[in-house]
Amino acid sequence: MIETRRSPGAASFARSILSFDIGGSFIKAAIVEGERTTILGRVPTPLDDADHFGAALRGFLDAANPGPDIVTISIAGVIDPEDGRIRCANIPGIDGRRLARDLETTLSCEVIVANDADCFALAEAHLGAGQGKRIVFGAILGTGVGGGLVIDGQLIQGAGGLTGEWGHGPIAGGNKATSFPCGCGQTGCLDAVGGARGLERLHDSLHGRRLDSHAIIQAWQAGEAAAATTVALHVDLVSTGLAIVVNTVGASTVPVGGGLGSVSALVQDIDRATRAKILRRTEEPLVVQAKCNQNPGIVGAALLGAMHVKRQTWLPTRVTTSAA
Ligand SMILES: [Zn+2]
Repeated sequence: MIETRRSPGAASFARSILSFDIGGSFIKAAIVEGERTTILGRVPTPLDDADHFGAALRGFLDAANPGPDIVTISIAGVIDPEDGRIRCANIPGIDGRRLARDLETTLSCEVIVANDADCFALAEAHLGAGQGKRIVFGAILGTGVGGGLVIDGQLIQGAGGLTGEWGHGPIAGGNKATSFPCGCGQTGCLDAVGGARGLERLHDSLHGRRLDSHAIIQAWQAGEAAAATTVALHVDLVSTGLAIVVNTVGASTVPVGGGLGSVSALVQDIDRATRAKILRRTEEPLVVQAKCNQNPGIVGAALLGAMHVKRQTWLPTRVTTSAA
């Protein structure tokens, strides 16, 4: 199925960019040209074989006419900027590889690979709720907790490629009701209580009832007391983590994406609680719902590609000194 839409504000895409959003289930592809984003389709992600993975991307590239100037990828993995190696637990076939370099050989095209939460933050900063704001911290409350930091329009990619990972670090202390083992190896991380699975964990811990996050949110919105206790605790934990982030990076706005980010009343509660905990006094909403909801990974990755191409155009490739 081909879906075409306009990308307002994306006029800076001067070239043709083949942009992918890659998760543990699907590879989704789009061509971004000028202000137009054309979704090309999606295929299942080959999980265990790097060659099959590369071939799946190659299929989209071969179908693109004319060929793209650059390939950009948003992926649920962490890329070390030092050596380009990716950590991607969901896709074992590419875990530990220098993905961009490998794919440049397979695709015969320049390739940029970025973390999906970073791409989300970049999309929000340029085309979403962060437009016009200097310091944008994009927070994801999805299955777990993630995020990315954009300052003056530039994505901050720090040591280890881990900037924006506010979900990790044992902030819950020894409180048994809120402290759970995390996938990162620590115990008590916000990642284990702040996302949808975390909300479910908290509800089970407080009330001994296993409900999915949608049922808990529904019960909360219907005024059910047990769900209200769970959500109040969730809001307290998430807003504590966000307050530290806001105080640290001086975020002008915090757009929230992910499944829980789509619950307007929850984001409003997190906003009020966060503003009550930060040093800056402001009556303006600070934690807000994300606006770039359609394919933020594809859009954010394409933005990275566009900025990269532009930078290459602007920077001199050769410096010559005229003879005296
Ligand atoms: Zn953790």
